[in-house]
Amino acid sequence: MSEYRYPDARGKFGVFGGKYAPETLIAALDEFENAYREAREDPTFLADLAELQRDYNGRPTPLTFAKRLTERYGGGKIYLKREDLCHTGAHKLNNALGQILLARKLGKTRIIAETGAGQHGVATATVCAKFGMECVVYMGELDVERQSLNVFRMEMLGAEVRRVTSGNKTLKDATNEAIRDWVTNVGDTHYIIGSVVGPHPYPTVVRDFQAVIGRETREQLLRAEKRGPDRLVACVGGGSNAIGLFHPFVEDDAVKMYGVEAAGRGIDTDDHCATLTKGEVGVFQGMKTYLLQNDDGQVNEVYSISAGLDYPGVGPEHSAFKDLGRAEYFAIDDKAALDAIYRTSELEGILPALETAHALAFLETLAPKTDPEEIIVVCCSGRGDKDLNTIVKEARNR
Ligand SMILES: *Cc1c(COP(=O)(O)O)cnc(C)c1O
Repeated sequence: MSEYRYPDARGKFGVFGGKYAPETLIAALDEFENAYREAREDPTFLADLAELQRDYNGRPTPLTFAKRLTERYGGGKIYLKREDLCHTGAHKLNNALGQILLARKLGKTRIIAETGAGQHGVATATVCAKFGMECVVYMGELDVERQSLNVFRMEMLGAEVRRVTSGNKTLKDATNEAIRDWVTNVGDTHYIIGSVVGPHPYPTVVRDFQAVIGRETREQLLRAEKRGPDRLVACVGGGSNAIGLFHPFVEDDAVKMYGVEAAGRGIDTDDHCATLTKGEVGVFQGMKTYLLQNDDGQVNEVYSISAGLDYPGVGPEHSAFKDLGRAEYFAIDDKAALDAIYRTSELEGILPALETAHALAFLETLAPKTDPEEIIVVCCSGRGDKDLNTIVKEARNR
């Protein structure tokens, strides 16, 4: 079904997406798009990337049958796509590896990135170390305090972490600073964006690099079950692990897709980041998409217990999927996510990231309603080691 073959030539996903960027960046975005178009047809580029994904990132990641979770609900068979086993602990490296190869192709010598929890910053610092590139990561001062171990990791990997003190000192402000840096240094610098957000072509490029998640899932299920999945579940911050799982199945109407956002302290409070549940359409950081904003169009301060989900926008392709009804979006609060961490640890021996736990928590609603003949795949986007401090602190309040 061509309806979903996004984006169009202008980088639009229906009315969403586009390229809302300052004039100084338009040439760089065009150059990036052209390099990407060439690269995805270039057998050498594709072979280099495949080799890195295999020998450095550890792909293919396993598809694990979650027997005890399946028994708990008595519904469809639950499989976990194990992005938690990627090098550096989450799906972020799938994209960072692809983009560093594009940056080299473009002749860039300096890399910048934004990071919230630090996972994308660590992935970017990792590929810069591997390829000997200069690396600057922008991070809000508040996140620097909350995620000090990841700051230390990035610095050990040779990156410079620049603390951002503007705004409320979190991801949105770090992204603004990174864009400012790019405008100034666009000649020698490539900006590695960490999710399916920002101006065209980023949402497409990041999606295509993350689509390895869905492609492997399809092959692995064919081997294990002789058929494809019925339902796909993933958490949504910017939306890259979700789109990565969904993309290869988008034109298969029988496959139902569920994106799970963070409801924080509840979607009826101000403390959440359920963009697709509560947001309105606006333009932000280069794209038209659903946003959490006030009546004046000012973007809200958002909250979630998981630092990787608290972003006030969402990838434009998800906005299009929501309006078309191609995927459904739900919100899970902090408490339900924490419960899911304990449940998944105790029943499966897998300690998921706080972000991932939102997707796993949604199984409580979804799985009991499914037929035992069905197959449900959940994207296990990352591992929970990075969240142990938060989990221990919360445990005291339980
Ligand atoms: C960054 C991150 C996310 C959120 O990003 P998406 O672009 O929505 O995938 C989810 N899970 C983990 C483990 C992350 O590190």
